[in-house]
Amino acid sequence: MKIIYYILVVLILGIVLSSGCLQEEKVPEQTNTAQQPPSSRIDYSHEYPASAANVDGFELKKTGSAFVVYYHPGDETNANKVLAILEQGGLNLYKKYFGFEPKDIPVYLAESVDEYVKIADFPGGKENVEVGDGSAPNGKIYLYKPFGETIPGKTGGVIIHEGVHAAAYQFFGQDKMRYLPGFLNEGMAYYLEYTFKAGPKFNPLDQIYHSDLLIDGVETGNPKLLSLDDLAQKCDGYISEETLNFLCRGQGTFTVWYINENYGEGALEKFLTNLKQTQNWQQALSSVTGKTTSQLGQEIQDSLKLMVEQKKR
Ligand SMILES: [Zn+2]
Repeated sequence: MKIIYYILVVLILGIVLSSGCLQEEKVPEQTNTAQQPPSSRIDYSHEYPASAANVDGFELKKTGSAFVVYYHPGDETNANKVLAILEQGGLNLYKKYFGFEPKDIPVYLAESVDEYVKIADFPGGKENVEVGDGSAPNGKIYLYKPFGETIPGKTGGVIIHEGVHAAAYQFFGQDKMRYLPGFLNEGMAYYLEYTFKAGPKFNPLDQIYHSDLLIDGVETGNPKLLSLDDLAQKCDGYISEETLNFLCRGQGTFTVWYINENYGEGALEKFLTNLKQTQNWQQALSSVTGKTTSQLGQEIQDSLKLMVEQKKR
């Protein structure tokens, strides 16, 4: 009798375990779909209606739920693509990672470099502008000849990137925007740019522009990696010095990636909400991570070091 009982228990256990395994097998499939880059899921055939504009020298506009694209006659296809990327890709990302819900953000499509530098008030000057570039200095997005570039996918990333700056500006408002340190503002924009292009599970060392400088910094100490306080002090506004510029952007992106990866998907939204209230980024970071600024900075650099070592293997 006892033997039959044991056989039954083993049989039932087997069924339970194998059904559990079957269920588990389905999970990676679902994760794979979720990990597809959002850039691959934009429906460009969706037609956004056009209407007359007469704003800042732009004759036409296309209006979405959160963005309005202003453009010149002949640029309709590009205007539709820009709006598709912001409405179908940007909106979800801005809400999911930062809690931003942008409204009525204007986007201008400049046709010449002169027009771009003038309307965007671009501090780098004409010689630092390339086709497919963009900027968002005051809550408005300016794009220079979107989709005209030779680097595949450049414009899509730039649009998502500038959308972060514009949405952040709207979230904080003009007077409080200065409390968000430049390296985090840039880091957030690059973080979503890479998420859009490469999917949410991207490897920062593969995506970060000039991550070779971060790797050199870890391995040789040259360039010297910046602490979080240094990043906040040195990475503001337009940075013309190249190495500093790449360090600010690279370390900023890695910082945002690290916080999201290690403190959960709602961590950055919590940080931004706290920052808007306290107007103190160190305090806001500490409220999310439970660490002091120097502890967190050390933790982030240790993690970067580990990733560099893993990449070598
Ligand atoms: Zn930027």
